[in-house]
Amino acid sequence: MTFRNFKMVGYVVYGRGAFNQLDEIITPHREQKKPMVFLVDHFFEGSPLINRIPVRENDKILFADVSYEPKTTYVDRLAQQLKDEFGKISGVIGIGGGSTMDLAKAVSLMMNNPGSSADYQGWDLVKNPGVYKAGIPTLSGTGAEVSRTTVLTGPTKKLGMNSDFTPFDQIVLDPELTANAPVNQRFYTGMDCYIHCIESLEGTFLNEFSKSYGEKALQLCRDVFVNKNTWDADCDDKLMMASYAGGMSIAYSQVGVAHAVSYGLSYLLGTRHGIGNCIVMNHLEEYYPDGVKEFKHMVEKNKIEIPAGICRVLTDEQFDTMINVSLGMKPLWENALGKNWEKIMTREKLRALFEKL
Ligand code: NAD
Ligand code: ZN
Repeated sequence: MTFRNFKMVGYVVYGRGAFNQLDEIITPHREQKKPMVFLVDHFFEGSPLINRIPVRENDKILFADVSYEPKTTYVDRLAQQLKDEFGKISGVIGIGGGSTMDLAKAVSLMMNNPGSSADYQGWDLVKNPGVYKAGIPTLSGTGAEVSRTTVLTGPTKKLGMNSDFTPFDQIVLDPELTANAPVNQRFYTGMDCYIHCIESLEGTFLNEFSKSYGEKALQLCRDVFVNKNTWDADCDDKLMMASYAGGMSIAYSQVGVAHAVSYGLSYLLGTRHGIGNCIVMNHLEEYYPDGVKEFKHMVEKNKIEIPAGICRVLTDEQFDTMINVSLGMKPLWENALGKNWEKIMTREKLRALFEKL
């Protein structure tokens, strides 16, 4: 038995207003004449947050177009643009949701690795450390701030650049930044965390390490989405820590059925991660009976619409594509259903599940 020896985030700062420390935090990482690049979720274009970014001399603010979840082509384009404009840069600071944070991680890596980011989709394929990178979430739930991956859609697969070089050097967890997120988006991304917890805690890979974080994250999700009647600052504080702990939980276990199926949806239909997980979770009573019951309660209590019928008009070929992508996520299935998962989750059974969505 070998145990996973995983690389973690370098530095963590947590607190309301922690964003104000950014200048001081990144100053030691500025290299002469090389700019710091702030990759900011396009949602914040023209917002007061932009004036708080500690821009110096030739630094650059780039707005990340996250209308679609990150593609390898977009990562390559951003990295090339920076190489053309500056040659080298001091670092990349990603400010936004999971998509922007993943873009920042990937761009940092591609500043120092040849070829296309698509060449590195997989496990431990990245050769060189990236440039300095920091992540600052403005939505809570994905755990992208702590993970060793950056999820990218490439020409042939949707798969992350999983490597020891991928985690951020620094994260700044400032719950104030999530305060104005729209109710639906906050719920979908928050449910990503809830689902991480259920999949981790109900999985066969569970150990005391991931259980400790998973239980705490689950409790925080419940505080926010079950026990509270109105959203307040305390909810932002709690959900940000839930995201962190949920991410730490899956760092030592794995996600499960909802994610494996949701990846299929996202590859074929472009369904976003948070909402895709919710669409799938709604139909997983067979695998996570208690979790699904509570999930449905949270949907109702928070008055959220979960889309249905999104696979109604698909062709056999399209179903096959989704089934292939989904069954390709072997570790997720093994975590969810055990070593014999292939006997349990047959193509027919998975097709029937997709047809329900
Ligand atoms: P997101 O980053 O895709 O953003 C969703 C929407 O919310 C966007 O339109 C964005 O502009 C907007 N937004 C962001 N912050 C906002 C704010 N404060 N107020 C209002 N709007 C805001 O959403 P997400 O759910 O955080 O991230 C999903 C992405 O994260 C997917 O691409 C998924 O693949 C990735 N992901 C990565 C990991 C990982 O470990 N690397 C884990 C889970 C998910
Ligand atoms: Zn997820």
